[in-house]
Amino acid sequence: MSKTLIIGAGGVGHVVANKCASVPDVFTDLLLASRTKSKCDAIAKDVKARQGVDIGTARIDADQVPELVRLMQDFKPDLVIHVALPYQDLTIMDACLEAGVHYLDTANYEPVDEAKFEYSWQWAYRDRFEEAGLMALLGSGFDPGVTGVFTAHAQKHHFDEMRYLDIVDCNAGDHSAAFATNFNPEINIREITQKGRYWEDGRWHEVEPLSAHKPISYPGIGPRESYLLYHEELESLAKNFPSLRRARFWMTFSEEYIRHLDVLQRVGMTRIDPVRYEGVDIVPLQFLKAVLPAPASLAENYTGQTSIGCQIKGVKDGRDKTLYVYNNCDHAKTYEEVGAQAVSYTTGVPAMIGAKLMLTGAWKKPGVYNVEEFDPDPFMADLNRHGLPWHEEVDVPLPHEYD
Ligand code: NDP
Repeated sequence: MSKTLIIGAGGVGHVVANKCASVPDVFTDLLLASRTKSKCDAIAKDVKARQGVDIGTARIDADQVPELVRLMQDFKPDLVIHVALPYQDLTIMDACLEAGVHYLDTANYEPVDEAKFEYSWQWAYRDRFEEAGLMALLGSGFDPGVTGVFTAHAQKHHFDEMRYLDIVDCNAGDHSAAFATNFNPEINIREITQKGRYWEDGRWHEVEPLSAHKPISYPGIGPRESYLLYHEELESLAKNFPSLRRARFWMTFSEEYIRHLDVLQRVGMTRIDPVRYEGVDIVPLQFLKAVLPAPASLAENYTGQTSIGCQIKGVKDGRDKTLYVYNNCDHAKTYEEVGAQAVSYTTGVPAMIGAKLMLTGAWKKPGVYNVEEFDPDPFMADLNRHGLPWHEEVDVPLPHEYD
């Protein structure tokens, strides 16, 4: 018997609600709450049709701690799965502490007025969660999330010492919109327009946004131009696996996407500071989000697949070894299964798995943790069981240069 509160009714919330409802022996009672209740109701209807399960819905402004606490005291959940926006991480963690509820999210905190994402704000909650006997699991999506579990799996089963990590993320899907983002446009564009950052020889190195790129070949897809980005899991992986001499993150973008982004940046549409327009303050990026397609709306007729994995070089039994562990996910198949595109699916399934492991006690420790700090085996087994099968290749040549 467990009660789970899901916050956020976007593309990811849609998948989380469906996947939790598909495991009724663990998730016995579900409540979906978000800013717009009609979106929760539409998801609840979809869950009923697909899974035959009734879930409750509620309206919540997750920026307001007292409102969150009231909802939690009323519903009395064991766990909150937070898949609204990273801006709400801290308010929801505060409310969880006040109401005595475990916490899980898929993206680290970002202040609204500064495009800066790092774990320090959430790691600062460690003592308070520990003292309250509560657990917070950070970044249980795909990247961050599965990429951390893949790295922990590599350390546990393949290497004595991991030295080089390249996370490679390809979306080779076609949704036929001229320009759209696969998850929340505001968060996505803030991430991509930042300077690229990677970890090497004990310190962070920076490059200009999207300036470092090369073709990387993805399984079942072929070569795609891939851009070095800063991605939040690099921070926790560099800390939790100190043998890594270098850790980088690469993501594919089409020429069309880069061209649109370039123009939007040049004309000021990606700015996050307010601009006065006819007596009202408007944040250009928030306005842009309002006119771009919602991520969930891309799902119908989306074709092609995603491929995300970890390419690792290190040492085992005194000799060099490489490992490539990855998952490919097909947009059309995820649409058929839960009515969502693969980027929402690859985030929502690991959120459900992390929650399942917490609720069943397989992963349970008071404090604030990243996914790679737990035994990867049950998570890896659940990926195969719940729609994200993984593959691994040992000692294949990897497309990177090493010292
Ligand atoms: P969407 O924009 O589709 O959905 C976000 C949802 O959050 C919307 O329903 C929105 O409500 C709701 N929301 C926003 N602000 C509030 C608030 N103050 N109170 C209550 N609800 C609010 O985004 P996605 O579903 O694509 O992404 C969800 C999260 O998943 C994001 O944090 C994103 O960063 C993360 N993510 C993580 C990935 C990973 O692999 N780790 C990959 C992809 C996404 P409304 O409908 O009213 O706007």
